[in-house]
Amino acid sequence: MEEKETIVVIGAGVIGLTTALCIQQHLKPSQSVLIVAREFPDATSINYTSPWGGAHYRPVPGTSPQLIREAKQAARTYDVFKRLAAEEPASSIKFLEGIEHLEAPPPEYLEAVDSENNVYAHLDGFRQLSKDELPPGVKWGVRYWTWSVNSPVYCAFLLRKFILKGGETKEYTLVTPMEAFELAKNVKTVVNCSGMGFADPKSFIIRGQTCLVRNPCPVTVTRQNADGTWSFCIPRPLEGGTIIGGTKEPHDWHPNPRPETRARLLENASKWFPFTPESQGKFDVIRDIVGRRPAREGGVRIEAEKLGVDGDNTIVHAYGAGGRGYELSWGIAEDATEVMLKNGLLQEKSSL
Ligand SMILES: Cc1cc2nc3c(=O)[nH]c(=O)nc-3n(C[C@H](O)[C@H](O)[C@H](O)COP(=O)(O)OP(=O)(O)OC[C@H]3O[C@@H](n4cnc5c(N)ncnc54)[C@H](O)[C@@H]3O)c2cc1C
Repeated sequence: MEEKETIVVIGAGVIGLTTALCIQQHLKPSQSVLIVAREFPDATSINYTSPWGGAHYRPVPGTSPQLIREAKQAARTYDVFKRLAAEEPASSIKFLEGIEHLEAPPPEYLEAVDSENNVYAHLDGFRQLSKDELPPGVKWGVRYWTWSVNSPVYCAFLLRKFILKGGETKEYTLVTPMEAFELAKNVKTVVNCSGMGFADPKSFIIRGQTCLVRNPCPVTVTRQNADGTWSFCIPRPLEGGTIIGGTKEPHDWHPNPRPETRARLLENASKWFPFTPESQGKFDVIRDIVGRRPAREGGVRIEAEKLGVDGDNTIVHAYGAGGRGYELSWGIAEDATEVMLKNGLLQEKSSL
């Protein structure tokens, strides 16, 4: 009989949970999965990003290898989310109208729709807005059918699915991923979904401050301001309120909400976003949110690192999703699983 083997996934953020679920689809009969994490979805910590995410999907045009890869991962996630939204309402995924208004559109936006890597091509109901549909000050706009999730609810949903499929969990803070090889019997593969990696010099944080309000909003709108800042509103499904955002502040470690930021976000939101008339330009604030997006120069690291003289142990890395962890989640998880399949660490799914 084959010796039992444990695959350890480090991290219970959206990337670790989604990757663990993908791995479960390809387990050999002798394998099981253990998630080891410092925080799980019931925790709130500034260094655990996933519960703070908006989270909605907005395609990002561009021609860099990173953006081209991300566009494919986002399109795959869009398809999975469409199925989950239809089949599993407890996931909290909801499809709704997404609107983008840009005051100073960079060239990649102006060229996006006609380019061969048109990141909007796969979206249902996509439409470029004509000049007379654009609000004052806006030079470029689009509408399409997108999704939004209630991020803490979605992560709890993923964790529940993982456990129901036989997955196990352990709350533990690792100093190095090497420790993970010692946390269960016969660990040959560790999957590093730790968000920031372990002292990867390419990793950095992007601080995000948003404000969660009770006011309902029927659509998700993103507006790029002429000064390069962004404003957005993201309704959180299952009565989770609406996220008003948001800042993108690389390398800013300030842990607390800045009152002046909250004031600016709400002022912009009352001018630009279609809150229901009962709001009368006032907001019923639930809380301020500060999170640290786990970014990485060049984007997500997905690769296998062989360890030891005979290469018997492997770390598969899947971290550095930055501000797009939800959007890319199923694409990243499938790519990491593909790396494991190519290295013989899992078995191909039976086609029966
Ligand atoms: C304000 C804000 C708005 C956002 N909006 C969106 C959006 O609209 N759409 C979107 O797609 N994304 C959005 N994001 C980004 C998204 O939230 C992140 O990309 C995503 O949460 C990253 O997930 P992750 O699993 O990689 O990291 P995390 O959620 O940080 O999870 C990392 C996991 O690794 C564990 N871990 C780390 N180090 C160790 C260690 N040493 N030992 C043990 N365990 C460890 C942690 O405990 C945790 O379980 C937003 C983020 C912020 C802050």
